[in-house]
Amino acid sequence: MTKFFKKSSYYLAAILLASCTSEETDDQIGLGTEIQTQNLSLISSGDVLYDTLIGWGYKADQIEDLGEFYLVDGDMVFDKSKSYSDPTLSRIDRNIVTQELVNIWIHPDMDNSWIDASNEAVKRWNAQLEDITLITVTDRDSADMEILYDSLETDDRYTFLPLSTRTFGRVEGFPTSDGKSGSKAWLNPDFNACFGGVTQSLRIANVQHEIGHNLGFHHTNRGFGFHIEGTPTSDPRSVMNGGSACRLNDFSEGDVLGIKIIYGVGDAAGGLLDTYSVPRSTGIPNGFRKYSNVHTIGANGPNLDNVFNSVLNWWGNSNNPNALYQFTLETNDGTPRHYTNISDFASYQLHAANPEITINSSSGFSNLSGDYWLNLDGDNLVLVEKSGAYALYFSNSSEAPSN
Ligand SMILES: [Zn+2]
Repeated sequence: MTKFFKKSSYYLAAILLASCTSEETDDQIGLGTEIQTQNLSLISSGDVLYDTLIGWGYKADQIEDLGEFYLVDGDMVFDKSKSYSDPTLSRIDRNIVTQELVNIWIHPDMDNSWIDASNEAVKRWNAQLEDITLITVTDRDSADMEILYDSLETDDRYTFLPLSTRTFGRVEGFPTSDGKSGSKAWLNPDFNACFGGVTQSLRIANVQHEIGHNLGFHHTNRGFGFHIEGTPTSDPRSVMNGGSACRLNDFSEGDVLGIKIIYGVGDAAGGLLDTYSVPRSTGIPNGFRKYSNVHTIGANGPNLDNVFNSVLNWWGNSNNPNALYQFTLETNDGTPRHYTNISDFASYQLHAANPEITINSSSGFSNLSGDYWLNLDGDNLVLVEKSGAYALYFSNSSEAPSN
């Protein structure tokens, strides 16, 4: 997964999805192994959603067939009639939820302690989210996500409700392929499996946990989904640990890091286009520009750490619109070669409005081929891949830009 996240050393630590080390029973699994085993034999390997879940790394014995739904790892329900984004791809694109505003409706018939816990959990998420915002709404019809007691659910498709007293919560979770959040977080006021009872702190943390699923986060202490590079591989304090309903507290440092990587400023699609104001409304001013570093921001771009010298030597005008004399990348290891003039492998338009360059795969740099907008950020040069997935930032600083 190395190539997916190289934003900066700030991001070097981990959140989701380390291998499972917990030996405890999962508080959140409500149904017995026998039932799971029976149901497994009914699952067709040709089922697209089932195959998708297996493809994400879930094991067959973690997937339970509930008829119209699959229940995964105890507390995540997937609707067979919906199409889900592959978490891998979502993370590559930073697009787990792409709607900027996620409307959340909190059922008013819950006790105040649960309503307060839900509001506090939303607040804690909003304190960390940057590219998306959770909004609480009073109009249920406008909700993207509902938070309610399992016993208040009226949709009879959810035949697995109410939850057992050993299950704290469950979601119909994970963003769908159109970038919408998971739609339900069911809370169980009758949960009684914690020694010492259910405190307000536990309520808040468990709502945080369920909202996390609906925003695309898997269990930190399990082996499925994809580890967010840079976050800890083991994080006992993660609020996204599974089977830990009685011990959850608040976001760990690793959680916060993972949230910033996935939902930090500029991480959702389109963010980088805005951040670097592309397409630019005028051409690139003439000049000889030289840089010692190329930083890849965002996801799935090329690794150009071996480029120690780049030159953009541009003197175009309307009579000579192709005067990009040099756009050279010089490497310290000869990969793919010591000296590459990108303009030999590209078509470009730098003189007029909307300056752009298309680099073909013959340049030899992995993942460099693509369509880019160009802009200057001060003296620095930035190429933003046109989908907004990543940007190449040429500067004379070893530090990645912080904007
Ligand atoms: Zn969970």
